[in-house]
Amino acid sequence: MTVTVFNKIIDVKNTVNEWRKNNKTIGLVPTMGALHNGHASLIKKAKETCDKVVVSVFVNPIQFGPNEDYNKYPRDLESDRRLCEEMGVDIIFAPTPTEMYGEGAKLSNTDITFVCPPYNLIDCLCGKSRPGHFDGVATVVLKLFNIVTPDYAFFGQKDAQQLFILKKMVKDLNLNLTIIPCPIVRESDGLALSSRNTYLSKEERERALTISKALNYVHTLYKKGITDSATLFDSAVSVLDKEIEPEYIEFRDYETFNKTDTVKENTLIAIAAKVGNTRLIDNIII
Ligand code: AMP
Repeated sequence: MTVTVFNKIIDVKNTVNEWRKNNKTIGLVPTMGALHNGHASLIKKAKETCDKVVVSVFVNPIQFGPNEDYNKYPRDLESDRRLCEEMGVDIIFAPTPTEMYGEGAKLSNTDITFVCPPYNLIDCLCGKSRPGHFDGVATVVLKLFNIVTPDYAFFGQKDAQQLFILKKMVKDLNLNLTIIPCPIVRESDGLALSSRNTYLSKEERERALTISKALNYVHTLYKKGITDSATLFDSAVSVLDKEIEPEYIEFRDYETFNKTDTVKENTLIAIAAKVGNTRLIDNIII
């Protein structure tokens, strides 16, 4: 079976309407493309859960800051298409920014409607250094939900803050779908897969490895009975490559998203760090 690539919203809507008439359940996997095994794990889960699977491939301009990597973000629709076809995806939705946001619109809240997630969830972690990022994410995801009308949508735990914010959006806005969280997929040496890993030189990749090593070390210490966040913070810093300046290492209750001084079950331990010019994130949930 070949996968159909649609660029137009109307084509997706028409196909989805046909599926609905036939009582098919629909799964959506939103991505920015440059697909890797992390994305593939979401697609696999979607295939297991739903009759029909839509993968969106859209590098969303409104979630990038002015000095971020929107222009150089890796794009390879043909390779994405092959992977989706091998995995039995039904539709790739790959719109242009104009198709999503309209001709001539300024991509800011002077011209378009934004979804604004709760400040408590966006004024911290990645939101601190990326103002407006999660508004952009929530906005595009709500649009994708409205276009595809999925029963299930699949998101990676890799972006733990994003996942938390989107689950909150679904709850707060009474959206009629279920979000399925999927575990982080890693290379055999522990590096979390990311489309941005392609930016890393060999040397930078070695350094980047210390991020997952730091998280593993914290987990090991926790299992030995150390639960004090400040102590675990210092332990994580001691493992990180000395040339890596962590943007944050944070301990948050993954039920409330509040900071926690004591690590216990369901604590999110999240790191963001720049390796060379590449900003990477990783986390574990205890
Ligand atoms: P992106 O294309 O980076 O926007 O990611 C699209 C989706 O794939 C998001 O839900 C991510 O959390 C998820 N994802 C990215 N990397 C991984 C990974 N290593 N393991 C699991 N999910 C991932």
